This record gives sequence, C-alpha cells and structure tokens, in this order.
Amino acid sequence: MDSEKTAPVAEQNSNLRPDGSKKVVLSGIRSTGNLHLGNYYGALQKFVKMQDDYDSRYFIADLHALTTNPDPKALHESVKQILAEYLAAGLDPDKNILYVQSDIPEISEMYLLMNMHVGIGELMRTASFKDKARKALGITSESDEIEKEIIGNQNNNARVNAGLLTYPTLMAVDILIHHADYVPVGKDQEQHLELTRRFGRRFNSFYGVDYFHEPVNFNFGGEAIKVPGLDGSGKMGKSEGNCIYLIDDEKTLRKKVMRAVTDAGPTEPNSPVSQPVENLFTLMDLVSGKDTTDHFRQAYADCSIRYGDLKKQLAEDMLKVTLPIRQRILDIRDDDEYLSKIVKQGAERTREYAAKTLKEVREIMGIRKI
Ligand code: ATP
Ligand code: MG
Repeated sequence: MDSEKTAPVAEQNSNLRPDGSKKVVLSGIRSTGNLHLGNYYGALQKFVKMQDDYDSRYFIADLHALTTNPDPKALHESVKQILAEYLAAGLDPDKNILYVQSDIPEISEMYLLMNMHVGIGELMRTASFKDKARKALGITSESDEIEKEIIGNQNNNARVNAGLLTYPTLMAVDILIHHADYVPVGKDQEQHLELTRRFGRRFNSFYGVDYFHEPVNFNFGGEAIKVPGLDGSGKMGKSEGNCIYLIDDEKTLRKKVMRAVTDAGPTEPNSPVSQPVENLFTLMDLVSGKDTTDHFRQAYADCSIRYGDLKKQLAEDMLKVTLPIRQRILDIRDDDEYLSKIVKQGAERTREYAAKTLKEVREIMGIRKI
C-alpha cells in the first residue's frame, strides 16, 4: 500500500539536479500568530541555512490559516508579522523568493484540480485533521467518533469546514506547483509530505505521465524534530498557547520558562525522567547545547537537580537566540514599503513558475482550448 511506504531518504549530498540547475526548496508557515521556537528549529533555521546553496522559495501560508477562521484584521497583521520574522531570522530577499500564498491565484486553481484525485477517506484519516476536528467538536476520547459527529449532527455543519479537510491537497499543490525537491519542515508535517508524494504519484499514474517527482523533507542529515511545549506535553504550537515566541520580551520569556510544568523531582538515583522534565531537557539541547544538558541530566540522575536552576539557565540561553531576532523584527515590521516590495517581487517570480505548471497540468488533464 502506498500509504505505508516509509519516507524516502533525501539524497542530501548534492544541491544540484542532474541537469546542473540548483535543487528547488519550498516551505511555508501559516499566518496564525507569531513564530515560536518550534517554528524556528523545525523550519526557519533550516530555511536560513539552505538559502545560499539552493533555489529556495518560502511563503506565508495565509490560505492555510483560513482553515481555522481567523479574524480578518488579525490575519492581515499576522502575514506582515511573519514576513518580518522571516527576514529578522536571516532570510535574505536577494537569495530567496518570498511570497504570500494568496498572491498566487494559480495555486487556488490547481488546488481545485488536484482535489479531483484526492479521497475524502484518506483526508479524514490524516492525524492533523483528526486532532483539529476533535478539538472543534469537543471530542475528548481517542475513539473515532469523528465521522459520526460530522455526518450525523447538523449542528456541526460549520464547525469542521471543508478547507480543514482538504488542507493536505493545498499543501501538496504548494509544493508540486514548484516541482520542489526539498521541503524543510518539522516532524509534525511529515504525514502531509507523504500525502503530497502520494497525490503526485497518483496523478502521474492516472494520466500515464512522469510529471511530478517526489519531494522530501530536509534535515541536514539528522532526524526531523519536534520541539515540545512548556506545558508538559505535546508540541509547541501557535494554536496550543504553550510557546516561547521570537518576539517575547525578556521579562515575558523568563516568566514563561520559570512557570514551565515540571514534577516533584527525583527521590531515588537514576529514576526515569517524566515527560515534562524531558521536554525541558529537549529544549535545553536545542538552545544550550549538549554539555549544559548533560550537566543537568547528571544532576537529575544523582538527585541534586534544582529545577529553578535548570529553568534559569534555559531562559538565559533561549534569550541568546531570541533577543537579537526580536530586535530585528521590531526594526522592520512597520516598514510597509519595504515589506510590500519584497512580496510583490516574490509574487511576480512565483507566478511565472506557477503559471507554467498549471498550464501543463490543465493540458495533461484534458482542459484544452476548443
Ligand atoms: P498552528 O498551531 O497554527 O498549526 P504551528 O505552530 O503548528 O501553527 P505551522 O505554521 O503549522 O505552525 O508550521 C510551520 C512550520 O513549523 C512547519 O514546518 C512545522 O513543521 C514547523 N513546526 C511547528 N511547530 C513545531 C514544533 N513544535 N517542532 C518542530 N517544528 C514545528
Ligand atoms: Mg501546525
């Protein structure tokens, strides 16, 4: 079954395609709020590291943000904020194409076409859809009552919208319209990326063409990562309210870290580490480095650990990462002229690529002039 295929391992030792052109990198972030450390380590930091060697294109996913019905003013502000955060984190507009998803009408049209090859069953089985639908419907159990609730209960008509269900189609189109080779994303997006490969393969096989190739995640040889939240479980996420934001000021950040969930502390040497404490170690690995984490792991193992000290160190090291970025965000986020020039240029270039793909897709599907 194609769904069970394991993710192909990226052949990551060359940044060139066989024809000598640079490989295409594509990724985006939803404009659903400020960027946090999860977005930074899962995605943005990789974007920045790739910008010199690849043909890289990064967008702000405002159409994807619509799936959770944002307030219009907040959506607009968030698009600007994320662009400023991209730039502040080090994305150079001269080295990358930066654009806003909704500026590219070809994406919306291809999304409609691609949906004809996507099954609602496979969409309903997607983990992120199940999570978000469960939340919207107030289902707390893990059992699969979702279909029954959605189909059987008219009160739910607007609560789980079709855009949320077809999110993976739109994401596939974002990627396939560029014929991207690499898609640097966090671990939470790997299932969507697998669906992208599946839809591309299905399109090829239905029409008997060899048109789309298979994009893969990119992690500089390591594993895809999931940055945990400060609330003791799960992932740091804009919609979870458990984030350290790049824009947090010093006081706010320290306060959040000092309040992070822990436990009563180890009472016996070499006790297993609880999830909330493991989360803090994971965060520390990212911002402080392994030596610092080893020191605290050792203190945990011999029961001498004081969580207050761990948190102080963690906050200190997070601030070293976030404060310079925060300063640059503040410097550029109100420069409307600069920001709008960047996305205008980005849209023009993206539309050239997108129009070419859409034209070819329409032709393959039989939508031809009479
Ligand atoms: P939302 O809660 O609105 O879905 P989000 O915080 O999950 O927002 P996205 O815009 O969905 O952010 O994701 C943008 C990028 O950041 C993706 O590549 C995703 O994999 C990555 N990302 C998001 N959260 C994390 C995390 N906790 N750890 C690693 N990567 C993450
Ligand atoms: Mg997300």
